[in-house]
Amino acid sequence: MDTNPCNIPTTPIAKAGKLVARLSADHQSVVNVNGAKIGEKSIAVIAGPCAVESKEQLLATADFVEKYGGCILRGGAYKPRTSPYSFQGLEEEGLQLLALARMKTNLPVVTEVMDTRQVELVSQYADMLQVGSRNMSNFSLLTEVGRSKKPVLLKRGMSASIEEFLMAAEYILKEGNDQVILCERGIRTFETAYRNTLDLNAVVMLKRLTHLPVIVDPSHGTGIRWMVPVMAKAAIVAGADGLIIEVHNDPSKALCDGEQSLSSKEFRLLMEELQIIAPVIGRSMETRVAISNIY
Ligand code: PEP
Ligand code: MN
Repeated sequence: MDTNPCNIPTTPIAKAGKLVARLSADHQSVVNVNGAKIGEKSIAVIAGPCAVESKEQLLATADFVEKYGGCILRGGAYKPRTSPYSFQGLEEEGLQLLALARMKTNLPVVTEVMDTRQVELVSQYADMLQVGSRNMSNFSLLTEVGRSKKPVLLKRGMSASIEEFLMAAEYILKEGNDQVILCERGIRTFETAYRNTLDLNAVVMLKRLTHLPVIVDPSHGTGIRWMVPVMAKAAIVAGADGLIIEVHNDPSKALCDGEQSLSSKEFRLLMEELQIIAPVIGRSMETRVAISNIY
């Protein structure tokens, strides 16, 4: 099987910053999120609710994420909402619930940090820090997460070019943190039929330009539940190293992004399909290993 499906060049590409640039076809970083590896031959699936809403909601959702093969649990405790009147997240209580879910499932957790002032607190609970699309160009936040010892999941700004995206990652690496995963999550275009336009070209181009792992968020990339599984599969075929997917124990009652969240049944079906597709493209599915305690 061709292990270089994206036609990765063997010469450096000048456009990427010097720290993020891929220098050869086999120059590939692996980010270790407390045992879950992203950037290897195996495909990593991160899943969980958009927002942590309650103990019952999070534990029920985390339970099926773990059961069906997710390797990292996601969940927002600080939510960047368009309206200041929408649910803003449970904040530190949400972080505590993530820690509980982590203990019960043995899954590492990723959660968003919206502000430099939150980095220290969020780092006490999370195995990976998420920098959201709206903050991709928040250079002081990039610098701060670059100084932390935690892996960083950097989401592409909704109107950021590939070059701007790579330079945002360069800010983090420049501070000494090379544990960075890039996430394509859809961009703003003239199209209004779906929430965003999932730019799968970006996966192919990023894999060529950088050694950093690249994952795809088909949930925000489409905003529509029935589109999520097919775009998740397309992302994997395009060469993504993993996925981040919003799931909920009862999507119709979700406080945030219910319309793009998969139910447990839909998530199970997608995971079964990925198991079939992975070997066809020379990959496997990441399985979990025991996490170490951070407390
Ligand atoms: C999220 O993943 O919860 C999120 C808010 O995504 P984005 O930053 O891509 O909009
Ligand atoms: Mn969301």
